Amino acid sequence: MTPHRIAKRKMYKMNRTRAPSPRDISFTGYGAVREIGAALYVLNFLGYEVQLESGTRPRVSWAPETYKKALPHVLYKNIGALMGIRDIVITHAHLDHIGALALQFKLMLAANPSLTPDSLRIWMTGPAWRFTKHQLTQTVNSMKRNPDWKGHQPLFDEHDIDTLEEYVRIIHFGEMIELNPTLTMVVIPAGHILGAASFLFCQKLSNGGEARVLATGDTSDKDQIFIRGAVRPDIKIDMLIPDGTNLGKIPDPLETPVEGFLESDSFLGTLNRGGIVVVPSLSIHREPDNIARIRNAGLEKVAKLYIDGGDRALQIFKECLEPEQQHLLENLTFIHGKREREEVLRSRHAIVVAAGGMFPDRSPAHWWLTRGVEHADVSFVINNWQDPCSPGTALLAHRHGAAEEVSIGASSDPCTIEIGHDTYEVRCEVHRLATSSHQEEGEFERMVDMLSPKRIVVVHAEFSQATRYLTGKDSERFAYPKHGTEVGI
Ligand SMILES: [Zn+2]
Ligand SMILES: [Zn+2]
Repeated sequence: MTPHRIAKRKMYKMNRTRAPSPRDISFTGYGAVREIGAALYVLNFLGYEVQLESGTRPRVSWAPETYKKALPHVLYKNIGALMGIRDIVITHAHLDHIGALALQFKLMLAANPSLTPDSLRIWMTGPAWRFTKHQLTQTVNSMKRNPDWKGHQPLFDEHDIDTLEEYVRIIHFGEMIELNPTLTMVVIPAGHILGAASFLFCQKLSNGGEARVLATGDTSDKDQIFIRGAVRPDIKIDMLIPDGTNLGKIPDPLETPVEGFLESDSFLGTLNRGGIVVVPSLSIHREPDNIARIRNAGLEKVAKLYIDGGDRALQIFKECLEPEQQHLLENLTFIHGKREREEVLRSRHAIVVAAGGMFPDRSPAHWWLTRGVEHADVSFVINNWQDPCSPGTALLAHRHGAAEEVSIGASSDPCTIEIGHDTYEVRCEVHRLATSSHQEEGEFERMVDMLSPKRIVVVHAEFSQATRYLTGKDSERFAYPKHGTEVGI
């Protein structure tokens, strides 16, 4: 390391909330603590720092006035706190884990132009990088094309993504990487989405022992159509950083089991009556899953299946699959442009898999929501977690069978929802399908029994759910850190 760089590192460390102690193994959360979104954690192994994730809050729109609220604060308030990082480890390519990566990289390079691919290494699996590159490119395109950005300099561009790529190191499941002579990292399948990894860090100690930290990233235990369930190391863990998404979740009695749903009156019945079933789908994961499910059930014989958006993500997904799995995603009919959408809406009798699982502005799913919500023969099948700010959350209040629940609610008019600045009457059918790519009831507890971690750092969880989950738990064992506070083993 050059003297210049050492001096820089020392200076930056003074800016930290608390400099990492070379005696400690610890966790500091700068994002996705006490919330889901903008994940960014720093692990300190005896003074050597590893960053996990660099995400955004997808609920905050990426506009010139608001984008900073979408980022982990540390990126624009104190990038110096991250300048000692040599390794950034990414678990998977959802925006809440990678959305800030290009911007962070650009800020770090500006603060220290002598960073090279040897002094900053960004680790992730092949599919995770392909989806990351795709999503970051989409952000670039939206900054170029979205009128909100007119007259503003885009925060990063394709050139920055290409430079970032030079720093990315592709890793494979089962691989063990030596981050420094006493610290190794093992890459473990996490389930969840294609290419999602958990990371086991093993730090050799001076007494001959070893300290182990397992960061699961978002994870799911059950096999999905294209993705096998997570693998857990059969080893005792000192610190566990789990996926808190479903901890403390109150089960929804109106959630519909996947088994039998496609054959039910809610799906098949709607089609047989000439209606339209719209399946809003997260493009880098749920879209292929939903397509495969519909095809496997033979529903293309009942109504035409249209894919609206997500073409590129589907192509990447297909290319990452084994050849024998690819046929489920071949010969698809895509909708091109608004005129074709209007035509499908007019002709009815169709299944539309629409990109945009949480109905983000300008997404195909958002278009179908605003156009379909007031039609009694349109059925929406919500099949992923909804951000509290997504119109999907408002729509869920009207899900099948919720009539009594809604009439008790405080809403002045229970039959309308707000989408953007407009009010719509809800006449469509709404279903919530019990699909999850996170750990389900009991799976977290079984994992904890197996790994018997001394410390569990609860992150990536909605505040109300996490506090419900943590009530009555041993606070020494279950840490629930605030932003920027350090938790030791
Ligand atoms: Zn995820
Ligand atoms: Zn996540």
